[in-house]
Amino acid sequence: MRRPLRRFSSTSALENRVERRIARFVRSFVPAYAARIGARTGYRAPRVGFASARDPLFDKIIKRQPGHLRPQDLLDGAVSVVCYFIPFAPEVVKSNYDGDRCSIEWVYAYTETNALIEELNRALETELSAFGVRCRGIAPTHDFDRAALTSRWSHRHAAYVAGLGTFGVHNLLITELGCCGRLGSMIVDRQLAPTKRPSFEYCLFYRNESCLRCVERCGFEALGLQDGAVSGEKRFFFDRHRCYEVCLENAAAYRDMGIADICGKCSVKVPCATVNPVYEE
Ligand code: SF4
Ligand code: SF4
Repeated sequence: MRRPLRRFSSTSALENRVERRIARFVRSFVPAYAARIGARTGYRAPRVGFASARDPLFDKIIKRQPGHLRPQDLLDGAVSVVCYFIPFAPEVVKSNYDGDRCSIEWVYAYTETNALIEELNRALETELSAFGVRCRGIAPTHDFDRAALTSRWSHRHAAYVAGLGTFGVHNLLITELGCCGRLGSMIVDRQLAPTKRPSFEYCLFYRNESCLRCVERCGFEALGLQDGAVSGEKRFFFDRHRCYEVCLENAAAYRDMGIADICGKCSVKVPCATVNPVYEE
């Protein structure tokens, strides 16, 4: 039974309480949901971060990716953005080590976690409405321009703004718990203290050029070193169209399991799969 709401003497006390409540809610929802539906996917404890909806980085994202939405485009009166990372259990990650085709466990992790995120956002909206907070949960995926292959809302970039990690050469966000997992976001009309962003790079290449494992792992010519690049001036290419072709091949192979346009080979068997590799150096 929901406890009756208390009145708060100061705005900051309420903010603080709402943040803690959101983080607790997300952390407890994930294992409870997985148990309730009998999920095949194992998870580790999620991480939650907060950003101001007016953070100038959102404007930078739009400059680089025209068509990307602002938080205010998604919720009238948007004040903050809540982002969360739901990390996969190690056995899910290991399942995708070998072969060109992604593993069936990886497909389950993708489809089950997308459904989880939809339900988590709905449940969080209900929970926060008890505090008078209006929210807009954002679909986990499949809201993108099919020609340009750019999305109207990048959970990865929002999670970066919300302090959950830094980008790797593979274009994924490396969090304190690695990059293998799913990201979700929600816009709210309540002031929440922004999470401090990391002050250093989590990707080992960007830190000290000691790794390019993800590039080696992509055997599909979607991620690589540019021709002519030499040590000391390494440049990468990410061919999103080639990457998506590979993802569509997987989707065709697993067509009976919903839309599974994924691959993930560059995110497993790499130092940043399940940890922040800088701490493991
Ligand atoms: S595999 Fe290495 S180079 Fe690639 S993103 Fe991870 S840490 Fe960076
Ligand atoms: S997801 Fe697959 S195809 Fe795309 S860059 Fe990674 S390994 Fe290459």
